[in-house]
Amino acid sequence: MRKKGLLIVVSGPSGAGKGTVCREWLSRNPETELSISVTTRSPRPTEVEGKNYFFRSRQEFENMIERNEFLEYAKVYDNYYGTPRRYVQQKLMEGRDVILEIDIQGALKVKERFDEGVFIFIVPPTMEELRKRIVKRGTENPEVIIKRFNCAFEEINFIKRYNYVVVNDKVEEAVRKMEAIVLAEKCRVDRNSELIMKLQGGI
Ligand code: 5GP
Repeated sequence: MRKKGLLIVVSGPSGAGKGTVCREWLSRNPETELSISVTTRSPRPTEVEGKNYFFRSRQEFENMIERNEFLEYAKVYDNYYGTPRRYVQQKLMEGRDVILEIDIQGALKVKERFDEGVFIFIVPPTMEELRKRIVKRGTENPEVIIKRFNCAFEEINFIKRYNYVVVNDKVEEAVRKMEAIVLAEKCRVDRNSELIMKLQGGI
């Protein structure tokens, strides 16, 4: 029986720690595939082409839009970010689970087309903690920090469009919750219709 993989979409405000949670998830669940996005933003000092993102010029990104190469794309903080379509589709067909760590606009676009995905929203324990984390990260200038914090307030309003909320207080705990979510999703009756049909057929 060929099983399709699960599409796991993770969003949350900047500073909620979704990157850290996803990294920890991947180290504990190495069979899961992380979709590497394409962006027009400049790399941060520690970022590596093809590992964190595929860094492309605006022109190259627009060409990719024209060629319909994105599952979704969005403009986030003045830069484009997009999920390459082919990689995600291929891995899901191979039966692999795929994580998309994308912003809310992108997640909602994916949800419109792909409602069978699992949509998880990562939040900080408090907004004060979020502010501290954004400042502590220190990779952005003060203007960007304020912009991101204000965005975070607006973003929390979209939580109702997601299936699950995970508080990231301790990373370990957050990952454990994600594992529980994914396991439960895989046991859902509507995801196991082939198995059920076989049982009904006496096989
Ligand atoms: P950062 O610049 O901090 O790496 O990411 C900024 C925001 O863009 C984050 O919320 C991140 O989840 C989101 N993002 C990263 N890749 C994608 C993508 O492919 N599509 C969309 N819609 N958002 C993305």
